[in-house]
Amino acid sequence: MTAEPSPATAVPTAAEAAFASLGGEPAAPGTVHLVGGGPGALGLVTTRAARLLSTATFVAYDRLSPPEALAVCREDVELVYVGKLPDRHALQQEEINALLVEKAQAGEAVVRFKGGDPFVFGRGSEEAQSCVAAGVPFEVVPGVTSSIAGPAFAGVPVTHRGLSPAFAVITGHEDPTKDDTQVDYAALARFPGTLVFLMGVGRIRRIADALIAEGKSADTPVSSVRWATTPKQEQVEGTLGTIADVIESTGFSSPAVTVIGEVAALADELGWFADRPLHGRSVVVPRTRQQASELSRRLRALGADPVEAPTIAIQPSRDPDGLLTAVERMRDGVYSWVGFTSRNGVDAVMDAIREAAGDVRWFADVQIAAVGSGTAEGLEAFGLRADLLPDSFTTRGLGMALAEAADDPERPVLLPRADIASEKLSEMLTAAGVEFHEVEAYRTVPADGLDPEVADRLRSGDVDAVALGSSSTVRNLVSLLEGRPHPDVAIVSIGPVTTATCEELGLTVAAEADPHDLDGLTDAVVRALTTP
Ligand code: SAH
Repeated sequence: MTAEPSPATAVPTAAEAAFASLGGEPAAPGTVHLVGGGPGALGLVTTRAARLLSTATFVAYDRLSPPEALAVCREDVELVYVGKLPDRHALQQEEINALLVEKAQAGEAVVRFKGGDPFVFGRGSEEAQSCVAAGVPFEVVPGVTSSIAGPAFAGVPVTHRGLSPAFAVITGHEDPTKDDTQVDYAALARFPGTLVFLMGVGRIRRIADALIAEGKSADTPVSSVRWATTPKQEQVEGTLGTIADVIESTGFSSPAVTVIGEVAALADELGWFADRPLHGRSVVVPRTRQQASELSRRLRALGADPVEAPTIAIQPSRDPDGLLTAVERMRDGVYSWVGFTSRNGVDAVMDAIREAAGDVRWFADVQIAAVGSGTAEGLEAFGLRADLLPDSFTTRGLGMALAEAADDPERPVLLPRADIASEKLSEMLTAAGVEFHEVEAYRTVPADGLDPEVADRLRSGDVDAVALGSSSTVRNLVSLLEGRPHPDVAIVSIGPVTTATCEELGLTVAAEADPHDLDGLTDAVVRALTTP
């Protein structure tokens, strides 16, 4: 009997293939790509932007371009920060223009990565002019602009039937009390629609006063949102007459978008982003250096700001010959199934196959079982699809599925695993009478050290919680921290064994997961941080 493949293991569909090609052609050598990165949220980076970033050889980015997006860049990319700080210019605009042209002329595939849209107060058009002057080809990739997305994430539509038939986006960078301002406040005061100011928090009093002086009602609703679309998003509300006091008294600062108009009053009714259960809460997620965390993804979806802290490093197996023999036997059809419990296991097995001058065809005579979407993604990176991906992302789920699927008594199951893997899987297979062969594929050791910033935040209580997924994580964390986190940091444990280790080390657990998996752990974080 062969296990029914789960839906997640079908061959790539036309839709998936189409998705992969959405980003278009890679970044072209000798060309400057002026790319908008959106207002901050990762999901608001366009597919074209991601495609260009991941293929560029030279990337110049600035303060408001989402930094996490740079993770898709090539390993050998040259990354240069050319951002401006409010009080200081890292590079003058002319220097940036010259740099982009020079790199393109040297044959680099250049991406100029900017916050929001490159042509909305982004000086992208000046960079384009430099390209034209130098005869360098360029491409403009519009981005999701903060002038529209910022208000939208605060529950403020820039237009609304019956309230506002138009909107204007205005720079707040110019001082309205100066004669040389290009902004016509008299015209703006009469503008029949929504006014959206960028870069204006520092000058909000002068802007509001100028509009009132030109006849705009002091009762006009105003809403201002800072760090919109990110876990740091905050917003304040008032009227044209009160907003300056509100902003000054709350210490609200840049980067912020300020909306002036009747639509601003909809924020109460339509606010949604900041209402998510973990909005703005920071959660330390210990993980391995090599592995992006599924937990972080789940926490982020609930609004949290995951702080990833590598506490474990992955090292090669102490039994490389055993691993090599195992993959050769797999090639020879000795095993009926190979069961992967982690992405590291997949990587280690592929490394061993490569070492033996083999390739993915060595998987031709074996069926593949995997637990966890990270593991499945690890397989997909090599063009492999799991035949069996249990719905329950636990070792237990894998054990149950394999116990049923592996029914060839002549051909055992191969289990490449970590040195410290739990015995649950082997116990379940033994109980089910399934022959198996375990091999150490890799080893986990404590990381060299904790990021000093993360360590400081844990010690001083500048994070809300830490999510602990295993006893070894607890031990590693306490040893790397050389002590316990601040008592205000909520300790969240994945289950009784981890909780017992916490208690042994003097940590009080605020919430324990049930079920003992990532969903349970995510729920436990919510409980720990939302129960009064
Ligand atoms: N090209 C950008 C704007 C650059 S000017 C765009 O289209 O969005 C920089 C200003 O943009 C900031 O001073 C602030 O007013 C606004 N801004 C950018 N990102 C923001 C964010 N995440 N939240 C609030 N305002 C933001």
